[in-house]
Amino acid sequence: MVRIGVTTFQGDVEEHLAATREALRRLGVPGEVVTVKLPEEVEGLDALIIPGGESTVMGRLAQRTGALDAIRRRVLEGMPVLGTCAGLIFLAKRVYDRVVGETGQPLLGVLDVLVERNAYGRQRESFEVELDIPALGARGFRAVFIRAPSILEVGEGVEVLASYGNRPVAVRQEAVYGTTFHPELSGSTAFHEALVREAVRFSRR
Ligand code: GLN
Repeated sequence: MVRIGVTTFQGDVEEHLAATREALRRLGVPGEVVTVKLPEEVEGLDALIIPGGESTVMGRLAQRTGALDAIRRRVLEGMPVLGTCAGLIFLAKRVYDRVVGETGQPLLGVLDVLVERNAYGRQRESFEVELDIPALGARGFRAVFIRAPSILEVGEGVEVLASYGNRPVAVRQEAVYGTTFHPELSGSTAFHEALVREAVRFSRR
C-alpha cells in the first residue's frame, strides 16, 4: 500500500490525481492518492507530485505554510518526487528569467539544474511534440508544453531522460523527476508509473 500526494498550492491537480490512480491500476499496486497543502500532510507520503501552474505563486504559498521546508526535508530523506513545468522550476537549484535574471523566488533546490522560465517566448507559448523516452519504455509520448521552462544546465548526478531541440526536457536525479512539459495531459501514464515504482521501493526500505 503506497500513499502518493499531489500538492494543491496551484495548478492542474485533477489531471495528476487521475493519472496517478490510473498508473496504480495499470501496475496493480494498491495505493491511495491524496491532495497535500500543509506541512503535516507531507509526512507519511511515499511519493509526491508537484503540478504545473505558476512557480512564483506556488513557492510563496509553500513557504508561508511551512510546506516548503517539510517537502525539502522529505525529499532529502529519499522521498520520490515528480515536478512538472512550474513544479520542475520549484524543484530546481537555480532559476533564471530573461527579464529579471536569477529570480530569487522560493525554491526547493533539490534538483541540480539551471532552469529558464518562460523560455519559449510568445509565439510558442504552447505546443506539442512526440518524444521517445527509452528509460521509461515510452515511444511517441505526447509532450504538451505550456509557457514552458527550459533546462539550460544539468549537474553531474542528473540523467537526461528526453531532449527536444538540443535541450533536456525530462530529467531524473535519483528519485527526483522533472519535466518541462505536462505529462498529465499526454494520455500516457509513463511518468506516473515510474513514480509509483519509486514509491513502492521507498515504502519498502
Ligand atoms: N510559466 C510558468 C512558471 O514560470 C510555468 C508554466 C506552467 O507550469 N505551465 O512558473
